[in-house]
Order: sequence, then structure tokens, then C-alpha cells
Amino acid sequence: MKIQTGRLRFPDDEKRQPWLPLLLEIQHLTNQGVATAIKADGRKLACGRGCASCCRTHTDIPVYPLELMGIAWYATEKLAGEQRQRVQQQLLHHRDLGACPFLLDEACAIHPLRPMACRQFNVFNTVCAVGEDAFHSRYSDVLRPDLKSKNEALREMLRHHQIKDGRERRRLVETGEVHRLAQSLREMRWETLAARMSDD
Ligand code: SF4
Ligand code: SF4
Repeated sequence: MKIQTGRLRFPDDEKRQPWLPLLLEIQHLTNQGVATAIKADGRKLACGRGCASCCRTHTDIPVYPLELMGIAWYATEKLAGEQRQRVQQQLLHHRDLGACPFLLDEACAIHPLRPMACRQFNVFNTVCAVGEDAFHSRYSDVLRPDLKSKNEALREMLRHHQIKDGRERRRLVETGEVHRLAQSLREMRWETLAARMSDD
């Protein structure tokens, strides 16, 4: 699978949404970290388009406030037509799905804006079996993210929370306190986003 390492650009939207450039930079850093870690490992990645067991088995995907803004923006402004309608329906009924509400036809409907955690979870050698969570079944095949890039991305995320002091950002990341900002993707009240998708 080709890991996208170039920064995504939405020039008009980035002018209108002042928080968006920071999020796109963070995603870029995350992608670079993933690419570095894959190269350092040397094994062949099993992940690829159409492979999505992890979007069902992972029930504890952390998502940060800035990432939620990105997801809401993308869902309301970029999804269109049938895809938009189907995602909206899934958001309304997300508690009964047994999968991430953005999983559509075995692909991520918000792929360009998917959270950091989804970008970083990659598995080597063999595609996950139905119902398998490789994190528990074969941890040795799970990619270890490049810690330097991962921490840098998290430190940048803290800029969104107006933490300007670099030493404080470093402390919050190194102590793990930054994770308190995250919520569980599967536990969000996605009905609110579904309603916004009707309004727009
Ligand atoms: S983590 Fe497993 S299920 Fe998810 S894309 Fe990779 S191989 Fe497929
Ligand atoms: S956001 Fe996308 S990649 Fe992440 S769990 Fe949901 S469908 Fe899968």
C-alpha cells in the first residue's frame, strides 16, 4: 500500500477555516512518521484498500478535538450525493452498526481526514481475519509508530488548545496527559453531525 506523505491542500477551505492548516500539517507529520516506521521495519504491509476488519474490531479509537472539527468539516462540506446520505444514515444509527460509522463499502468515507490513530494502525504480513484485532492476536505484526513523529504531531495538536509554551507542550505529551483531550470515536454523539449534514 502506498502511504501518502505529501501534505493535503484545500486552499479555499484553509482560508475560511483557520484551524484547518494546523490539522493538515499534523496529518502530514503523522503520515511521514508512519512511512518512516514502515521503511525502518522492512516487512510488507498487509493493509490495503478494501481491507477494513480493523474499522469493526477497534472500539476504542481516540479522536482529538481538532480531528473532530476536521471530520465534521469534511462530512458536511465534502461528502456529496449517495455517499453523504449513507454516511448520514450510519451516523444516525451508529450505536447499532458494530463498526465505525464512516466505514462505507469497506473503505473510509472520510479517508483524507481520518484520525491519527487510524493512520498509525498498520499490520504486517497477513491481512486481519474477520473479527481479528491484531493488536491482541499478533502484536509482533503491528507497526510500532515512529515515536519522534508521533510526539511531534501531538505537540503540534496542543497549539489548537492555545498552549503556546513549547516546554509545556512537551511535558503534556511526554507524561501522556495530552491523551485526556481525546474521546472515543465510537462513543461520540454522531447524531449531532448527522443533523448538521441535513442543514448544510
Ligand atoms: S489493520 Fe488489518 S484489517 Fe485493518 S487494513 Fe490493516 S490488515 Fe486490513
Ligand atoms: S475513521 Fe475511517 S479508518 Fe478510522 S475506523 Fe472509521 S472508517 Fe476506519
